[in-house]
Amino acid sequence: MTQNFPAHQFRQQNSSFEGIDMAATISEPIVQFRNIGKTYDGKSNVLEGLNLDVARGEFVTLLGASGSGKTTLLMILAGFEAATEGEVLLNGRPLARVPAYKRNMGVVFQNYALFPHMSVSKNVAYPLVRRGVPRAEIRTRVDEALDMIHMREFSDRLPAQLSGGQQQRVALARAIVYRPDVILMDEPLGALDKNLRETMQMEIKRLHSQLGTTVVYVTHDQSEALTMSDRIAVFEKGQILQVGSPSEIYERPRSSYVANFIGEINNIGGEVVAVEGGICRLRTPDGTELCGADVLSARVGDQMTLAVRPENVCLRAGGDEGLRGEVTNVIYHGDHVRYEVRTRSSGHLLVRGSTDESLRLGHGDRVSLTWDENKARVLDGAASGLAGARE
Ligand code: ADP
Repeated sequence: MTQNFPAHQFRQQNSSFEGIDMAATISEPIVQFRNIGKTYDGKSNVLEGLNLDVARGEFVTLLGASGSGKTTLLMILAGFEAATEGEVLLNGRPLARVPAYKRNMGVVFQNYALFPHMSVSKNVAYPLVRRGVPRAEIRTRVDEALDMIHMREFSDRLPAQLSGGQQQRVALARAIVYRPDVILMDEPLGALDKNLRETMQMEIKRLHSQLGTTVVYVTHDQSEALTMSDRIAVFEKGQILQVGSPSEIYERPRSSYVANFIGEINNIGGEVVAVEGGICRLRTPDGTELCGADVLSARVGDQMTLAVRPENVCLRAGGDEGLRGEVTNVIYHGDHVRYEVRTRSSGHLLVRGSTDESLRLGHGDRVSLTWDENKARVLDGAASGLAGARE
């Protein structure tokens, strides 16, 4: 989708030698979370020291495992929960004393039920009726909103006469009909089956580019986050570990947690033996030396993990370069072949290979694994083995 904010708006916050845009703050944000803390029970912190800015028109996704605090942050923005610490600004103004109904934010939740006794058009009209919009204007705006979601012909139906996907479309129309400053969505597609979910993802993206409204979207589904967002904020235990565009998050994770949460990745543990020119050399327990980008300014002697995606590993029959191993499984996927390779001291690793018959390797073949050192990342921890993609 087209971004309706210039890329240069992003200001570097946590600078690094890689020049990665780690910006949690941006110029002219519409929403600013400043040092947000939240506890429900006065003992454990559900959110801690959380900072994030959202640009006008941006689609930002809060991504993380269940219980990491995404919904709590959304509730604080909506005004349904209060932060224990810090403040939220909308257009530069603190929201603390602004009640939820005055925040001009549309909300779509997984279980945010439509009013069952009201027709589709009455449901969509409801926010306008509450705001005292004149009746003729309500009719026009409801029709516009229903046209946008291709549901005009269903305007007289009751919610029970609609499918799950159609109901979520109506919930979307109800959220956009009063032209809110920000639309908040919490797992809005969580209850839908896979195909419908993918269709609705496209629909939401289309609406976003059409309307140019700012969207803050919550999901635990990494592929949904990658395909829909301008930027993703990865949550773990009430903190944001990394903020970046989908490609930054996927290609340049800054921690093992982020690397493993998004997509599949091979983790190879070892000890740092040299660091030079942004490249870190790691020695695995069997003495093999491997290189990857030095993301965390490692020092010689540190135990670290080299993380490399299966599609970035080059597999060769025989060879004495890089890691050596033996093919233990070959799975044909049509557009690629997946190889599982058992290595001596780094566990089972996964490689995405070409389907070209002449290059095809088989079970039991001895192979070597190499990669472009800039496509591997030396991160925290010292675990080895493959981390699978999560749902
Ligand atoms: P997520 O959206 O990432 O799944 P939540 O924000 O829903 O995470 O929850 C974060 C943590 O806060 C969880 O441990 C959850 O049990 C707790 N929590 C959420 N809402 C409440 C509440 N109303 N009262 C007490 N604890 C809550």
